[in-house]
Amino acid sequence: MLTACGNSTVTTETSTESVLLFNGKVWTGNDAQPWANWVLLEGDKVSKVGSGNVYPAADQQIDLKGRLTLPGFNDSHVHFSQAGALLLGINLLDVNDDAAFINRVKETTERLPLGSWITRGDWGAYEAWNMGSEGSNRNQQDWQPRRTLIDDLTPDHPVLVTKYDRTEGMANAIALDYLGIESKDGILKGDILTSALRQIPESSFERKLAESKRALEECAKWGVTTVQDMSPLDRVDIYKYLQDRDSLITRINFSPSRLSEIYNMMNQGWVIDWGENPSPAGDDYITFGTVKSHIDGIMGGRTARFFEPYADNTIENYMWRGGWREFSKNLPEFKKMLIQADSGGIQLRVHAIGDEANSILLDVLDTLDQVNGAKDRRFRLVHAQVIAEQDFERFAGRNIIAEVQPYHVTDDMRWMEERIGHERCKGAYAFKTLEDAGCQLAFGSDWPGTNASYYPINPLYGLYAAVTRQTVNGLPEEGWFPEQRIGLESAIKAYTQGSAFATFEEDVKGQIKEGMLADITVIDTDLFETEPAAWLKARFDYTIVGGKVVYERK
Ligand SMILES: [Zn+2]
Repeated sequence: MLTACGNSTVTTETSTESVLLFNGKVWTGNDAQPWANWVLLEGDKVSKVGSGNVYPAADQQIDLKGRLTLPGFNDSHVHFSQAGALLLGINLLDVNDDAAFINRVKETTERLPLGSWITRGDWGAYEAWNMGSEGSNRNQQDWQPRRTLIDDLTPDHPVLVTKYDRTEGMANAIALDYLGIESKDGILKGDILTSALRQIPESSFERKLAESKRALEECAKWGVTTVQDMSPLDRVDIYKYLQDRDSLITRINFSPSRLSEIYNMMNQGWVIDWGENPSPAGDDYITFGTVKSHIDGIMGGRTARFFEPYADNTIENYMWRGGWREFSKNLPEFKKMLIQADSGGIQLRVHAIGDEANSILLDVLDTLDQVNGAKDRRFRLVHAQVIAEQDFERFAGRNIIAEVQPYHVTDDMRWMEERIGHERCKGAYAFKTLEDAGCQLAFGSDWPGTNASYYPINPLYGLYAAVTRQTVNGLPEEGWFPEQRIGLESAIKAYTQGSAFATFEEDVKGQIKEGMLADITVIDTDLFETEPAAWLKARFDYTIVGGKVVYERK
């Protein structure tokens, strides 16, 4: 049965019924048949793709009415549990005045059952620069929330929200009561804040389930049919719980985000099957085989590892050299574990921001080839944010994956040149140079962002950023380092088959092609016939996963 679910719970039955999508403008991603106007789905797969006005018979038909139809988006980098927590809980990233704060708290209390904690929020992240700014017009505000603004609104919801840099927290009356703290304004700092945060009760299974459902709905709404997730391990139980109830409406590729998990992964068989065509462990809905690790910090906090000091450096060198976050600067131990993971069949994805961090990882890849033998590793540089000029040639012919989030460009250009100067920015988010160097781009969103920025799941923001390199307000006019812009088709490929390639699933998904999973999305705006600014307002009309409609816009 084909079932539309909209915003409600999905009920899906396994079925081999056929569905015909006809009268569309189908971009398939398949170079042998790039465009089509109808697609026949049988069961969970695409069975035929064609052009012309003669259609095969089907149990059910959907008239696409000429709309652009694409392979479902595969987001190579999300933090699903955080996204769910933010959607169901409170988001204060863009809040820096009383009225907005009061509103956001009010909305949140309406969503959450009585007694539920309202935590985090990360207020003030866009205080210095507004969202959408390219770096001019720095604000001079220093806004702070106070409990008096919200005590009356929150008689039944304990609140302990934090500032984006986690230096301050603000608790309401009943949270202060629970914590046994007296404070007129509710502002907590230092050890008091640290200890208060530790006392917040752990989320219940029900709350995590509700958060996950909310996040899944959001994926479906924005045409995303697979996410590559790095949530804490307890989320796997929730995905399986939903899968058992036929309610997992987005496919999940799950990576533990701690290198020490590799032993557990090997025990559980969460490894890549390195046959002739390597493939991940798991089934069509939940796959495993990759571990995520970190080699440096972030540029915003000046903890990303560069060869040369920050342009606006005010701190000691040992700070900006970054730490191997998991191994407190112990590179030999870090390398040893990466070699172990690799020899145990695990694919590696490592966060690397600074040019030196990326360079060291390319050295690690050389070592893996030497020690464990050459193979199609698809080693993943997570963010690959700044690459040194001399390192681009090291990408050729190696199937290295740049797991990149184009929307970061539009957000980070606010302060990038201030941090690392104009010269080094030439190698920043250098998607065109990476592509030309033979690197495989795998696009994603980094949803819901860091504690300093919000990154939407909507892949059209990523396409817009990769194609224009402008802020959402269209600045700068010619794009930020415009020579790194890439074409729309390249960008869509990076967000579909590129991401599938990153998890060894390019034979299964990422194109609208006979035999592939029927993961498809329909957009109300023709991206090929409109200016990029229009993409930011586009809406998805259908999202189909495994032949079933999991979202239909009303
Ligand atoms: Zn991330």
